[in-house]
Amino acid sequence: MIEEKAFAMKDELISVRRALHKIPETAYSEVKTAEYIRNKLTEYGIPYEIVTETGTVATIHGKNGGKTVLLRADIDGLPINDESDFEVKSEREGYMHACGHDIHAACLLGTLKLLNEIKGTLNGNVKCVFQPAEEGDGGALPMIKAGVMENPRVDGAFALHVEPLEKTGNIQVKDGSIMASPDDFKITITGKGGHGAYPEKCVNPLTVAAKILAKCHEIPKKYDLPCVVTICEIHGGTCRNAVPDTAVMTGTARSLDSDTRKRLVELINEIVTDTAHNFGAEAILDFNILFPPVVNDSKMNDIVRKSAEKLKCVTEVTELETASMAGDDFSYFGELVPSSYFKLGVGNEDIGAVYPIHSPKFKADEDALSIGVSVLAQCAIDFLDTFGK
Ligand SMILES: [Zn+2]
Ligand SMILES: [Zn+2]
Repeated sequence: MIEEKAFAMKDELISVRRALHKIPETAYSEVKTAEYIRNKLTEYGIPYEIVTETGTVATIHGKNGGKTVLLRADIDGLPINDESDFEVKSEREGYMHACGHDIHAACLLGTLKLLNEIKGTLNGNVKCVFQPAEEGDGGALPMIKAGVMENPRVDGAFALHVEPLEKTGNIQVKDGSIMASPDDFKITITGKGGHGAYPEKCVNPLTVAAKILAKCHEIPKKYDLPCVVTICEIHGGTCRNAVPDTAVMTGTARSLDSDTRKRLVELINEIVTDTAHNFGAEAILDFNILFPPVVNDSKMNDIVRKSAEKLKCVTEVTELETASMAGDDFSYFGELVPSSYFKLGVGNEDIGAVYPIHSPKFKADEDALSIGVSVLAQCAIDFLDTFGK
């Protein structure tokens, strides 16, 4: 029944997705996107609340009170120029829905429409969250601080993310950590500048930077930690024969669990302090703690597995062997309630949907929209049937 309803709204899902695809907006400026979503909810006859400026929450109240399951879609686009050969292009130059958040929002709107039609049969409530600023800014946190987990109190959460490198029809799950904490840092090194001909009279901050880079990159192997440390920028110097006074470097430190996350800050701090000291330089580390890793609950994953198995449109549920070292701020919800974050295959070689997310050529198979709606709706129903009494 769920699948039939989800596939019956295929044209509507495509039209919603394409409308959002044309207007990608970045973190906290999703004004037109939020307006479109709210207008659609009004059209569907579903009440909503505005939670933070561009965030929207709509709750379907089922029978007898019961538990509440949260479904989350992120809605922001990226500052990437649209170079895809998809027939519908971004209408904002330099911006693109290259992470498929337009698909997430369309799937969640479809799920709301579907569940609203059968709300009298639901064993609890389904709270749907359209969240701004996933890309690096952690828009989930202000929504949580604004009370999105209360009234009614949330008992579990699901989110899907498109995966263009997986075929349409496939769902990917993973127990435990599935996404990393994407923390980053900046190191400012102050040495002593001078003529390049007399290095012995200088404290070269670039030498210190090079040493710090090498030591940081050794961390995962040396300490056998499930993490990545990558220096991505080094700035210093103005010409070929002068040693600069200062150098600035930045990097990303990604881990899959909170112990490693804490350890990384300590290790990088130790490397920076000791190396600078050894060379007679000064160094300041600014560590920017972003979001926690996404850690899936195996019981919530079991609901995804069983729900997906009931659906004919799902070809295969595959178990991911390794976590991604990219991040997702869905982890803020997962810190508070049991959660599952799973991947929805949107890849299709026949139509050239073969590029990864964040590629300017990113393209998705729109046949996946009805599948996404089916899985989200079935997961919500099955969560409430399992835990809702
Ligand atoms: Zn992204
Ligand atoms: Zn994304």
